[in-house]
Amino acid sequence: MADDKVSRRDFITKSSIAASTAVTATGSAGVHAAEEHVQSDYAVRTKALVSVLTKKNLINPATMDAVVDYYENKVGPHIGARVVARSWRDPDYRQRLLADARAVAREDNLTGAQGTDLVAVENTPKVHNLVVCTLCSCYPWPLLGLPPSWYKDTAYRAQAVIDPRGVLRKFGLELGDDVEVRVWDSTAEIRYLVIPERPAGTEGMSEAELASLVTRDSMIGAEKLESRG
Ligand code: FE
Repeated sequence: MADDKVSRRDFITKSSIAASTAVTATGSAGVHAAEEHVQSDYAVRTKALVSVLTKKNLINPATMDAVVDYYENKVGPHIGARVVARSWRDPDYRQRLLADARAVAREDNLTGAQGTDLVAVENTPKVHNLVVCTLCSCYPWPLLGLPPSWYKDTAYRAQAVIDPRGVLRKFGLELGDDVEVRVWDSTAEIRYLVIPERPAGTEGMSEAELASLVTRDSMIGAEKLESRG
């Protein structure tokens, strides 16, 4: 139901607020004010820390820029989206990916930090896969970049394994009773990529056009891609 749909951020915010005894503000205005205060506090602390460490010659700003550039531009969901789009158009590639994503990742140079041991799972009309890391925030960095904040949140990590349908419902995705839900718990060794169902109405599209339709959340299993046209 559209009325029940909340953004992932709202879901996490509400869950965090419910679990927190530190936040005493009531009403949504107080909640958002508290959240903004926390964010700006982090930003100020980070800048202060960078400034001190740079002055003490303990970090090199150029190195930090290179690290930020890597996570902003070199890795990210656009890489995973290309893999998904190719798997939609190339049945052989899809089969290889599902059979041994580790080998495909090595061949296509998609390994790197936090992505060596990759497993791909496919969503179908009868099976929906959802990925979580109950322990912390393990995630396939080379394919999806850094995980979103909600993926790291205790509420998601706990509820995804206890009540995945409930979590998906809060994300706006209502699955039928005939759909099997599989939850994959990531570890330090194994990272998962969900291949979402190819949306209807995309038959004539190129790989690049298809890749532009693939969202980060659909590759975690937190979203289903909408039909086109
Ligand atoms: Fe983890």
